[in-house]
Amino acid sequence: MPDVIGVLALQGAYEKHIEMLSSLGVESRLIRYAQELNDCCALIIPGGESSTMSLLIQKFGLFEKLREFSENKPVMGVCAGAILMAETVEDSRVTPLNIMPMTALRNNYGRQVFSFSADLRLKFDAEGPAYRAHFIRAPEMRSNNEKIEVLAKFDDDAVMMRLARHMALTFHPELTNDNRIHACW
Ligand code: GLN
Repeated sequence: MPDVIGVLALQGAYEKHIEMLSSLGVESRLIRYAQELNDCCALIIPGGESSTMSLLIQKFGLFEKLREFSENKPVMGVCAGAILMAETVEDSRVTPLNIMPMTALRNNYGRQVFSFSADLRLKFDAEGPAYRAHFIRAPEMRSNNEKIEVLAKFDDDAVMMRLARHMALTFHPELTNDNRIHACW
């Protein structure tokens, strides 16, 4: 199987993931059609607008293919991508893929500030420097499932979670020069 990472390119912030991966010497390709996934060993679902992306996933006939892919291969969901990976979304316009047992509350930091940056501690690099994370109309993700490992928190909220080979992040790791997150995956 070729070591190419797919980046779902239906909508949203996909280009910068390609740049980040290439800075790590990893080959990647944009994915729009189901058969393009056959060449991929992993997939990033980028940030964007989860309701629009959800519609496009249906329109491009990708729903079942993405579910099937996630049963065998790692998926990283960023912001809108994390919402799509959830089991439930508190917004009926999004049909989530149910890749990780969590509930997504869209735009849940609206009460605070629409978009913001914060320094996080990364569990897998606890001795390393703080990670400057950029949150853009981020969702809040909730889960009681003990199989989910929380890799970073903002206040009391889990903002980076891992389940087996899958990762869900509510901030944008592609919008920084710090490549620790793509590198650890
Ligand atoms: N607010 C968007 C949504 O609900 C997500 C924003 C993002 O991906 N940066 O889909």
